[in-house]
Amino acid sequence: MTTLNGKTALVTGSTSGIGLGIAQVLAQAGANIALNGFGDTNAALAAIQATGAKVIHHPADMRKPQEIAAMFAMVHEHFGTVDVLVNNAGIQHVSPIETFDPQKWDDIIAINLSSGFHTTRHALHGMRARNWGRIINIASVHGLVGSAGKAAYVAAKHGLVGLTKVTALETAKTGVTCNAICPGFVLTPLVQKQIDDLAAREGLSPDDARAHLLGEKQPSGRFVTPEELGNLALMLCSPLAAEVRGATWAADGGWTAQ
Ligand code: NAD
Repeated sequence: MTTLNGKTALVTGSTSGIGLGIAQVLAQAGANIALNGFGDTNAALAAIQATGAKVIHHPADMRKPQEIAAMFAMVHEHFGTVDVLVNNAGIQHVSPIETFDPQKWDDIIAINLSSGFHTTRHALHGMRARNWGRIINIASVHGLVGSAGKAAYVAAKHGLVGLTKVTALETAKTGVTCNAICPGFVLTPLVQKQIDDLAAREGLSPDDARAHLLGEKQPSGRFVTPEELGNLALMLCSPLAAEVRGATWAADGGWTAQ
């Protein structure tokens, strides 16, 4: 059983979906939790409090480096350290390149990629000083392969995989590791929107749209769950994974095995 007693985990974009699922698993393992993100903050705080863990929330917008710095200041003030950093915040926008809204491109690159650079920058100093740290970047199968219509997302996730490798190399002789988890489809609000759009576009029922989306890409025919990704993150935090460095760990129901 991996224990994170006395350690602090900061999970970006953790008021919903995968981030909240990962935060819950890390909280159950004993970590103090710093949540971030928008929406129903109280429900997310309550979900972590239910595990008995200490939890705070900071609403930093991951597009804004100054707000990211303020978030780190708050976490340090409350808990003293950031031992586990999970770069999870992300958004999606689907459109062919010719009609892709340039503002959406900038937002996706800022949230899904550049925020990971800023958080890593802030986290590394303390992790190096304590000679222990775990940086887990939630990339995607789209950090490994492309899909039409997802130019900004695929570019950002490939970039995040690159940042993961460089962070792993720069910390290779220390007790700090950096790895990427590359999920396939997980049924969160981010994917529900794609299902709703597909159903409207093709005149499909919600069930048929879900089956169509999975059938096209994910051989397992089922969604990966946030809890499964939380358990993978916990494994990367364990001593068993001390020499797992710069890996891109797919959890994708076989998507990228094809
Ligand atoms: P989600 O929409 O359920 O959650 C996204 C989270 O990010 C929310 O907490 C939201 O408030 C937060 N967020 C959005 N914009 C933000 C901003 N500007 N600043 C701070 N927080 C912000 O999405 P999800 O599906 O749980 O996605 C989480 C991560 O997992 C993303 O990086 C996504 O790319 C990745 N991912 C998702 C899937 C999937 O199938 N759902 C697959 C692979 C990778």
